[in-house]
Amino acid sequence: MNRSPSASCHLFSCVMAILVASSLTAVTAGEQPAQSPSQPAGPSVITREQQADLTPDAVLQELLEGNRRFVQDDLTTRNHSARVREAYAGQFPKAVILSCLDSRIPVEDVFDRGVGDIFVARVAGNFVNEDILGSLEFGCHVAGARLIMVLGHTHCGAVQAAIDDVRLGNITPMLAKIRPALERPGAFSGEKTAANPEYVAHICRQNIRMAVDDIRRRSTILKEMEQDGSITIVGGYYDLKSGAVSLIDD
Ligand SMILES: [Zn+2]
Repeated sequence: MNRSPSASCHLFSCVMAILVASSLTAVTAGEQPAQSPSQPAGPSVITREQQADLTPDAVLQELLEGNRRFVQDDLTTRNHSARVREAYAGQFPKAVILSCLDSRIPVEDVFDRGVGDIFVARVAGNFVNEDILGSLEFGCHVAGARLIMVLGHTHCGAVQAAIDDVRLGNITPMLAKIRPALERPGAFSGEKTAANPEYVAHICRQNIRMAVDDIRRRSTILKEMEQDGSITIVGGYYDLKSGAVSLIDD
């Protein structure tokens, strides 16, 4: 469905009004922090002013540094209860991560982030559809996040099922959104089956590239934000064996 420009503006005006109202409440609440003196402070929840000073590249480097701490089992100690109370009235996250559903990827921990730091959208196979795109647009255009990372991973079961063309209930139309990655241009000379780990890895990476392209192609808002330097859109590849995230080239 195509919305008229005025309808789109009205929608975003309404969302912005809600966001601003909640932010004002957050400022008021921030004057009277409800923290127990017996609890360690830890890093504070990000504020609107801190978010406004971020650059997309700085956010990316911060996430990659957090991932190095995750790999080294050196996560930052956080007082989650205090952060929950601190963040309840408003949020100013730095990034949006579009991750696969896989339970072995605890996204906040993977980047050493806590309450209020990042938006996380999840769907098996980390593809985009209209609802995911709307969520990404909200995260960046309305709520001010500076980075989108599509986070796929090694040995992705959804990708393997797409290669096998599994047909089962609502999984069938879900896998149909991953299968175009099999047709994406890109040299691969080996056996093209889910039994070949190298082919699975190849398609996992192709699927990430496809999602990044789809975001730019299907969201004018996000494409323009990237073009004017407001955000960066990147692909990340999580290694289930090491916990390390590497960036996917275009
Ligand atoms: Zn997966």
